[in-house]
Amino acid sequence: MGEIGDDPAQDAMNAANAAIFWRLHEGLPKQGPGSDLTTVRALRSAGTLPECPRILDLGCGPGRQTMALAKATGGQISAVDLLPPFLKQLETSAAERGLSDQIEIHTGNMGDLGPLGLDEGSYDLIWSEGAIYIIGFDRGLSDWRRYLAPGGRVAVSEVAWLVDTPPDRMRAFWEGHYPGMRSQAENAAAIESAGYRLLDEFVVPDNEWWDDYYTLVEARLEVLRGERDDAPWQAVIAAHDEELSVVREGLHSFGYVFYIMEASD
Ligand code: SAH
Repeated sequence: MGEIGDDPAQDAMNAANAAIFWRLHEGLPKQGPGSDLTTVRALRSAGTLPECPRILDLGCGPGRQTMALAKATGGQISAVDLLPPFLKQLETSAAERGLSDQIEIHTGNMGDLGPLGLDEGSYDLIWSEGAIYIIGFDRGLSDWRRYLAPGGRVAVSEVAWLVDTPPDRMRAFWEGHYPGMRSQAENAAAIESAGYRLLDEFVVPDNEWWDDYYTLVEARLEVLRGERDDAPWQAVIAAHDEELSVVREGLHSFGYVFYIMEASD
């Protein structure tokens, strides 16, 4: 992407992209595959935690999993996200559910947590659903480790190849969207190389890409499609059509994988 002003056509695409992003994503109950059931399953795989555990939820978005973790553990959660509208949504939802006292909200960058003043060596559990890809799987595991308390666990979900030879179309799509994407087994190996012991891994059920997420995105996309017929707008709509179509066709070859681990030293 160029600087603003370099290329008017690119600027028009960027503007359409930003406008459409918010119209598609604002107010959704979650911003990626997953469900409370899956969150609780991963939590169980993390094993016994201290009473009232301290939890760091990175890339929390509107906080579906933050609230599920708060309810399931009775713990104290520091929830971090870059985008204030999602955090505002979490704040409101947590208040409605009587969970505000358990959740401390931080606007910040998961790739540069220092300015947030979080206590290093203090979290019993670090959680990141559908978000570690933003800074990269290996970098996240390495950077975040300093925040773990002794014996602490980490649970992350990450999109991964589930078959050895994915169809060309799927490969082309993901090369464009996430060039660092690896296989389920490669991520498991990376976890061990990063000095963690893998406790469990499982594939997030396919329907959890759609329920409360892509189904809602798709309905909004239909509204947006008819709103403007200029080229940048329609190009961004077409890119989203392609994403939905890839997910609809491709979920046997790729999926979201939950990895639950503990620091091995
Ligand atoms: N965990 C949530 C959201 C996943 S989507 C869920 O599963 O519903 C990824 C989230 O990461 C978004 O909320 C986005 O705002 C946030 N994000 C993007 N870049 C970030 C960064 N550098 N630091 C922290 N959060 C970031």
